[in-house]
Amino acid sequence: MIRIDSVTKRYPDGTVAVDRLSLEIPDRSITVLVGPSGCGKTTTLRMINRMIEPSEGTILLDGVDLQKQPVNTLRRSMGYVIQNAGLFQHRTIIDNIATVPRLLGWSKDKARVRAAELMERVGLDSALAKRYPYQLSGGQQQRVGVARALAADPPVLLMDEPFSAVDPVVRKGLQDELLRLQAELGKTIVFVTHDIDEAIKLGTMVAVMRTGGKLAQFAPPAELLSAPADSFVEDFLGTDRGIRRLSFFPATELELQTAPVVAVDASAEKIAARGTADVPYLLVTGVDGRPLGWSSPQDLTPGQIDPERLLPYGRPFAPATDSLRAALDCAVLSPTGWAVGVDDAGRVVGVVSQQVIGEAIRSAHAAAPTAAKVAG
Ligand code: ADP
Ligand code: MG
Repeated sequence: MIRIDSVTKRYPDGTVAVDRLSLEIPDRSITVLVGPSGCGKTTTLRMINRMIEPSEGTILLDGVDLQKQPVNTLRRSMGYVIQNAGLFQHRTIIDNIATVPRLLGWSKDKARVRAAELMERVGLDSALAKRYPYQLSGGQQQRVGVARALAADPPVLLMDEPFSAVDPVVRKGLQDELLRLQAELGKTIVFVTHDIDEAIKLGTMVAVMRTGGKLAQFAPPAELLSAPADSFVEDFLGTDRGIRRLSFFPATELELQTAPVVAVDASAEKIAARGTADVPYLLVTGVDGRPLGWSSPQDLTPGQIDPERLLPYGRPFAPATDSLRAALDCAVLSPTGWAVGVDDAGRVVGVVSQQVIGEAIRSAHAAAPTAAKVAG
């Protein structure tokens, strides 16, 4: 565990970049430092690997003061990733990744084998190994930066706005990849960003900092959204807090109904039996169980259901893995106000109304917020 204990950094010109900051960074999870530009995020991160020394206070790694640890040993235990990856332009991709193992005295062959392994791990095609950084896209370069930081298998990864320079689609891919890597490798990651949505998506714990290097709030993302400490944090979080918080509640508890679901080849009796007064619409499925569309019961002619004439079913959600936010979104987008739940194979498992989702949201709010992330 990394413990930052009442740390202040005052630059020679008098700028107080970090002001009495205290944080306990838990092991094997992602802690995000987020805040506006100039609030002291980079300074804080660089004090953790001693690229910058604090003016006051102490930082402890596993209970030992960083000042008592040789800088070289310390840096080896901490991978460092920056914006635009910071790759060596005159070295090939494979040699960029092999940099630290080579510095540690590994043979060229052993270092390259390790580098090749890491390329695969971060989702880079082995065909890119012999290229130079300028021959890669921004997103690919960023993956190389992550692979290089992981090369000596350090327990700690420090990442300073690593994804800020890539476009939103690539960025989302890199974020998902980082979450996957983290689940696989269990590193202790300190991640700096100015983007609150990135912080909420990636962080197990999020430290919101304000100008002047002060800590505004340190909490799991669901708690930030439900209980911002003050108006600065609330403004920084932006709009739709309530809706965004629903991402932290799984849809597994939703009670799905199967009564309004009929197969395209259903008999007249079946359709009649399902089309009762309290079910205004029926969801028609193909013989394979996949959704085709909605219809009112009286518009369905048994044996002659025309999929083209059904109301669109919208985007379905996966009750097993998605969040209440995803379920609500599907219901809001559905022409009938009912969301369609499907399994892995895309087969309908049931449908749920906005009203039932609304009730689930109310009981979720009443329960303690979970810090666990839900996929959708
Ligand atoms: P962030 O990463 O959150 O944008 P920084 O940690 O880079 O913020 O900077 C925090 C504050 O310290 C800013 O006001 C910045 O101008 C100032 N600062 C950063 N480096 C230096 C330096 N070497 N000398 C003087 N002031 C600095
Ligand atoms: Mg910075």
